[in-house]
Amino acid sequence: MIVIGGDAAGMSAASQARRRLGPGELEILAFERGDFTSYSACGIPYWVGGLVGGPDELIARDPATFRKDHIDVRTGHEVTGINLDARTVTVRDIAAGKDITEGYDVLMYAAGAVPVRPAWADNPASGIFGVQTLGDGAAIEAWLSSFDARDAVVIGGGYIGVEMAEALIRRGLRVTLVERSGQPMSTVDPDMGALVADAVRGLGIELRTGVAVRALETSDDRVRAVVTDDGTIPADVVVLGLGVRPNTALADAAGIPLGDTGGLATDLRQRVTGPDGVVDGVWAAGDCVQVTHLVSGKSLHVPLGTHANKQGRVAGINIGGGYATFPGVIGTAVTKICDLEVARTGLSSKEAEAAGFRFVTATIESTNRAGYFPGAVPMTVKVIAEKDTGLLLGAQIVGRAEAAKRIDAFAIAVWNRMTVVEMTALDLGYAPPFAPVWDPVLIAARKAADKI
Ligand SMILES: Cc1cc2nc3c(=O)[nH]c(=O)nc-3n(C[C@H](O)[C@H](O)[C@H](O)COP(=O)(O)OP(=O)(O)OC[C@H]3O[C@@H](n4cnc5c(N)ncnc54)[C@H](O)[C@@H]3O)c2cc1C
Repeated sequence: MIVIGGDAAGMSAASQARRRLGPGELEILAFERGDFTSYSACGIPYWVGGLVGGPDELIARDPATFRKDHIDVRTGHEVTGINLDARTVTVRDIAAGKDITEGYDVLMYAAGAVPVRPAWADNPASGIFGVQTLGDGAAIEAWLSSFDARDAVVIGGGYIGVEMAEALIRRGLRVTLVERSGQPMSTVDPDMGALVADAVRGLGIELRTGVAVRALETSDDRVRAVVTDDGTIPADVVVLGLGVRPNTALADAAGIPLGDTGGLATDLRQRVTGPDGVVDGVWAAGDCVQVTHLVSGKSLHVPLGTHANKQGRVAGINIGGGYATFPGVIGTAVTKICDLEVARTGLSSKEAEAAGFRFVTATIESTNRAGYFPGAVPMTVKVIAEKDTGLLLGAQIVGRAEAAKRIDAFAIAVWNRMTVVEMTALDLGYAPPFAPVWDPVLIAARKAADKI
């Protein structure tokens, strides 16, 4: 078994395969072009913000630990070619500058994603950072520690941009968050996004929505400012959170078919598929694959660690001779900026419309605990339900303590195709320190049910 990519998807697959097949039955060789294996990129904003240490704390399993399990991981090795007919890969040992060829029976493609970089972002000056690898986190750390940086500009108001804005505010910088669309967190409806925008501004972050970046101004090999279509913003540090696309160039060059989103298409068992069926011996998982949205039925690219780990596990179980499936996703995601928590599952209003649903929405205000209990803070919950059937299509939550993970109740309901009427009878836990007597989840479901 050869694994391309030594992080969430690739190493989950390797570990699961090894659990089922001993070293005498399956030889596992994993190539990672970077220096780390099984690391949490998700922790980088919290490392930069000083909430957690890094990079060692962000590594779940290092190559030495894998070797104990007879998984041979080679960091600093980049796979540069795949020959499907010969069943070989060509690998560059980066430090030695040497190429080697290795044969496989099973190829696990888990090369992740590549960051989106418009032409203006292609600038070699210092002070400009992506946030994808632990190396990126270390580079930001080193830059911020090397001088008294004052002005930070984060470009892109998705969850990574928002998390990085929090990190930089925590470091005492003046932070501007620039977002091309009309709201930060455009994965939630505009009315919920407006709550996020208010909270972001309340933290002292200068939020510039509807603003497009045109160029980065540099001098003496350092970034100095971000030029937008609405003026120039001074910058000692620029962080790019512009999204990612599947890293499938290597697969494409080898003639492995890509799905319609540009990610690899797989069957439920994570075998790569194309117009002619399964591609013999090739498996894929993680940010390089596309997934099916179980509510809209559409193919999507959803680069999240939660999916990468599950898909890698599924692939590894199957490679090891077991049986497991990854049915798809329902668009669940959570994030936070300082104490504001944001969550979503299912379809947003825009997505429900695009998928052709007729739907109603219901929005309620409630609190995380009984209103009289210390620490009770407000939360807004929005529910989207199919108009005629009441089928729960999606939900969104913006609030503070204990708000975001309430989305899991909605996620389970979406997953199991419950209606909002059915949801009103759910036996959710209640005691004053945890919820009002009617949990916000139930109040929102009830309000939506009233509209059906
Ligand atoms: C800042 C940040 C915060 C995030 N927060 C969250 C979160 O809160 N929740 C969540 O669910 N997800 C989050 N994610 C997303 C999550 O980190 C990814 O979805 C997950 O890491 C994907 O795992 P993967 O194994 O598919 O890809 P990756 O983690 O990208 O790993 C792919 C690996 O393949 C290597 N590679 C690529 N090409 C080659 C090659 N040719 N040869 C050898 N090696 C190669 C790369 O170096 C990389 O290490 C976050 C991501 C970032 C960047």
